[in-house]
Amino acid sequence: MDLTWTEEHEAFRAQAREWLAANVPERPLPSGDTREGFTAHLDWERRLFDARWSVVSWPAAYGGRDASLWEWLIFEEEYYRAGAPQRVTQNGIFLLAPTLFEFGTREQQDTLLPRMAAAQDLWCQGWSEPGAGSDLAGLSSRASKVEGGWRLSGQKTWTTRGAFCTHLFGLFRSDPESVRHKGLTYFLVPLDTEGVTVRGFGRLDGDEGFAEVFFDDAFVPDSAVLGGVGKGWSVAMATTGSERGLTLRSPGRFLESTRRLAELAAARPAALSGRLRDDVVDAAMRAEAYQLFTLSQVSGLVKGEKAGAESSLNKIFWSELDVHTHRTALALRGADAAVDEAWSRGFQFSLAGPIYAGTNEIQRTIVAERVLGLPRVGR
Ligand SMILES: Cc1cc2nc3c(=O)[nH]c(=O)nc-3n(C[C@H](O)[C@H](O)[C@H](O)COP(=O)(O)OP(=O)(O)OC[C@H]3O[C@@H](n4cnc5c(N)ncnc54)[C@H](O)[C@@H]3O)c2cc1C
Repeated sequence: MDLTWTEEHEAFRAQAREWLAANVPERPLPSGDTREGFTAHLDWERRLFDARWSVVSWPAAYGGRDASLWEWLIFEEEYYRAGAPQRVTQNGIFLLAPTLFEFGTREQQDTLLPRMAAAQDLWCQGWSEPGAGSDLAGLSSRASKVEGGWRLSGQKTWTTRGAFCTHLFGLFRSDPESVRHKGLTYFLVPLDTEGVTVRGFGRLDGDEGFAEVFFDDAFVPDSAVLGGVGKGWSVAMATTGSERGLTLRSPGRFLESTRRLAELAAARPAALSGRLRDDVVDAAMRAEAYQLFTLSQVSGLVKGEKAGAESSLNKIFWSELDVHTHRTALALRGADAAVDEAWSRGFQFSLAGPIYAGTNEIQRTIVAERVLGLPRVGR
C-alpha cells in the first residue's frame, strides 16, 4: 500500500489551503443550529459554492470540481484544519446527494443537485417518528396513491434543522398491507407543500436545531419518489451507508480535534497526569487509525465496492472517539472547562454522536450479525 500523495494531490491540497486561509471567517460563526447562525452559515455556503468548493467531488455541471474521493478527503482535512464553519447543508450534500447519484432519475439529478450545491434548497432528513427511532422499519407515516401522485400523512420528529430547511427526504409506508421493511417509499418533499407543518423545538444545549414535521394529506407528484415505489428501504440503506460511513464524518474532523487536544495538553503540563497523558495519546492514535481505515475503505470504493454494513464500524468508532476527545479536553481544562465554549459545547454535542445516525447499540448488532456473521439475537 502506498500512503504517499501524488504531486497532483499535493497541488490540490495547496490550492484548497490557500483559498481557505484567505476566506474562512476570522471569528467563529454563531451555531448553525440557531436561526441567526443558520443564516450566517448560508452566506458561507454560498461563498464556498461561488468558488466551487462546496461539493468538490461532484461533476462540474452541478457545481463541483470532478474531484476524486481522495481529493475530497484532502479537502475535508484542509477544511477542518482551517477551522472552517460547520456544514449546515450536510444532510443534503453528504446524505441525500450520494443517494440521488445512485438512484435518482436524470431529471431529479439535473433539477435538485445544482440547487443543493448552491445552498438554494436546504434538505433535512425525515426518518424518525415518535414511535419509530431505532426500529425505523416500524414507521407509520403513510403515502396513499392518488391521481398523478401521493398524499402523505403522519409525523416525523428529531428533524435536524428542520425549522430552517426548505425540503425533506423521508420514508413513508406506501403499501398499507405491508409490514416492516417492505412497502416503504422514499419521498422528496418541499416543506412549503400545502398540508405540511413544521414545528421547531429546542435541544438541551439551548440550540433550536430540531423540528417535528406533520403531514396532513399533503400532495406530492409521482416525480417526488426516489428510487421506485416500494423500494424505500434499500434506497434508505444507501443514505445510511453515507451517514454512518465516509461522508458525514470524514477523518479530517478528528485529526483536527485531536491535534487541538494535543495543543491543549502541551499548554497545560501541570494538568497532565499519567492517565490524562495516555488519554491524549490514545485520542491521537485513534484519529490516525480512523484515517487509515478510511483510506482502505476509499481504496475499495474507487474499485467499485459498496459501503455496506461496515459503515456501522465507522459510526461506532468516530462517535466514541469524539466523546473521548472532548471528555479528555474537559478534564485537562479542569475547573474552567465550563467557560471554554468550543470544548464544552463540543462535548455536549459529542454525547449525541452515539445516538444519531442510528444508536451504537443498533450498530453493534449490525456489526455482529452482518459483518461478523454471528447468530441473530433472540432467534
Ligand atoms: C442530535 C440528533 C440529531 C438527529 N437528527 C435526526 C434527523 O435529522 N432525522 C431523523 O430522522 N432522526 C434524527 N435523529 C433521531 C435519531 O436517529 C434517533 O434518536 C435514533 O435513531 C434513536 O431512536 P429513538 O430516539 O427513538 O430511541 P429508541 O429507538 O427509543 O432507543 C432508546 C434506547 O434503546 C436502545 N435500543 C432500542 N432498540 C434496541 C435494540 N433492538 N437492541 C439494543 N438496544 C436498543 C437504543 O440504543 C437507545 O439507547 C437525531 C438524533 C439526535 C440525537
